[in-house]
Amino acid sequence: MISFYPGQQPDVAEAVKDCARRGLFSGGHYARAVEKLFQGELGARNLLLTPSCTAALIMACRLLRLEPGDEVILPSYNFPAAANAVLLAGGTPVFADIDPRTQNLSVPDAAQRVTKRTRAIVAVHYASVACDMDALNGLCAREKLDLVEDAAQAVAATYRGRSLGAIGRFGCYSFHATKVFSSGEGGALCFAKGDAAAAEVYRDNGTDREAFLRGESPGYSWRGLGESARMGELPAAALYPQLVRREEIIKRRLNVHRAYDRALLHAARRGLLTPMAVPEGCGINGHIYYVRFRSEADRERARAALLSEGIPALTHYVPLHLSPMGKSLGYEPDDLPESKRACETLLRLPIHEQMGEDDAALVADKLLKAVDR
Ligand SMILES: *Cc1c(COP(=O)(O)O)cnc(C)c1O
Repeated sequence: MISFYPGQQPDVAEAVKDCARRGLFSGGHYARAVEKLFQGELGARNLLLTPSCTAALIMACRLLRLEPGDEVILPSYNFPAAANAVLLAGGTPVFADIDPRTQNLSVPDAAQRVTKRTRAIVAVHYASVACDMDALNGLCAREKLDLVEDAAQAVAATYRGRSLGAIGRFGCYSFHATKVFSSGEGGALCFAKGDAAAAEVYRDNGTDREAFLRGESPGYSWRGLGESARMGELPAAALYPQLVRREEIIKRRLNVHRAYDRALLHAARRGLLTPMAVPEGCGINGHIYYVRFRSEADRERARAALLSEGIPALTHYVPLHLSPMGKSLGYEPDDLPESKRACETLLRLPIHEQMGEDDAALVADKLLKAVDR
């Protein structure tokens, strides 16, 4: 039986038990250990753990201090989290189309949507493949926009050696159960050094309690707007052992990725399907393996064939501009054609560290039988 997500991990159970013994106050042994890993080897020097990536996105948008009417550009082919964050922070989300090669924000399309009111871009690194960062940084510099990286899927992924999530002014990670490193629910906010004090205060109900706990002041007080947005200590404990063995986890996932690539190469050459592209300079973490088909009918045939063999295969986002909420924001279905095409033709295949290359070969074989007729 091939499952879509990995099963039980003994070291996670062990860490959670140990955490229960040590005590449940947040910011304890495990939260500090996770933060230290990010600040060191994982290359995100300024980082706070949060209850989810969505919470981190909301914090980022709040810390941008959007004014009513301020616009934030983001891809329509996306989970609703960033769009909700923009709206909750009082801004207006503006949907842009994607590059069909990577399903990431099309920088030329985003550039066309910049107006006098544009303040920021929230870019998603889909499947942990980096956006075109040179073009994106160039656009943000030219138009004086802040960059928020929705790096939910991109923990430990890189662009030319730099950690994704730690490149823009803000970066947001997810440790949701569907992600490579999971605390069930969980996230983190990365930020530029200049935002450190404000981020810390916002996360702790608008107080300087964190500085007080570090012994920097005799008490703490309410300074401004904030939330209670710390990660619990138990989720941090669940996360820690996975991050410690992250290289092994990623290596195993990439073995599955390469096995899919090999098995699908011939069909790709014949134009039957297009396996996911990983452009030069992108270091991925194996979060997703997807293929795109020539038509929705082909995709549905492949999906049905896999499901009938008990192999889970999933489509992905309904573009936000096609959703009921997107429609209510004034979008028409044909506004963003590449996002719509991705919705119709993309299929995700199972990939995780408990699968072997033989599993990938089996899945690919069933898929090819359905398509190549
Ligand atoms: C998973 C995901 C989120 C949401 O993460 P949560 O931790 O569940 O809030 C946001 N954006 C993208 C691109 C995601 O994949």
